[in-house]
Amino acid sequence: MRVGAHVPSGRPLEEASLRDADVMQIFLSNPHQWRSPLQRTDAEALGTAGIPIYVHAPYLINVVSGNPRLRNRSRRLLAETVNAAESVGAVGVVVHGGHATGAATVDEGLVRWEKTLKPIESPVPILIEDAAGGENAMVRSVEDLARLWDAIGDLGVGVCLDTCHAWAAGEDFQNLAPRVMSATGRIDLVHANDSKDGFGSRRDRHTNLGDGQIPPELLIHVIRDAGAAVVVETPGGAEAQAADIEWIRTRL
Ligand SMILES: [Zn+2]
Repeated sequence: MRVGAHVPSGRPLEEASLRDADVMQIFLSNPHQWRSPLQRTDAEALGTAGIPIYVHAPYLINVVSGNPRLRNRSRRLLAETVNAAESVGAVGVVVHGGHATGAATVDEGLVRWEKTLKPIESPVPILIEDAAGGENAMVRSVEDLARLWDAIGDLGVGVCLDTCHAWAAGEDFQNLAPRVMSATGRIDLVHANDSKDGFGSRRDRHTNLGDGQIPPELLIHVIRDAGAAVVVETPGGAEAQAADIEWIRTRL
């Protein structure tokens, strides 16, 4: 099982090696801005390095927004991010399920997801990530995932399961991975993060593995059951993330 980290995007291969990561996740543009990704000068080196790369799309993206302007901007930036991901040989683009804001309903959100995905043609799959909370979240519970997959599951999308978010959402960890599998047929990536907050808190504050409120045996249980690549998105830089990666490897 490959275990790695979300690393700074300046020199990702060096960052991965500092952490002894055998998979990595990066941003291809500022995650808090609408700016389009630029062509990377190290694209070829990244694509041939032999270490799977996941790209995390910017946080601002909400393809189910009730605001048409934000929705269209989101779709454009997601499509651009998928193209840029292809140019670095990435194996997936992680994006949040989003929130049906304004007067929008979750049912409209399903249609909006479909409209987002249909025009995007890329060998790099989009991986939809679960959310910790928020009003009208498209994907908080496994039931939400099942409903979304009924609408878009045949469009080549994948699943990114974040343990901190699932904990904050109040999902039962004992059977979490099998339930996700039966809802979607796949788990492509696990974001292995501990949670500073309690079960069902709906708060999204990642912390280092073993330092938060998720019982270690449950965290490992979900990671093992998922059987997918694992990326930590934890604080503390290279040293702390290397320890998190080691924490997982020794327990698996
Ligand atoms: Zn995550």
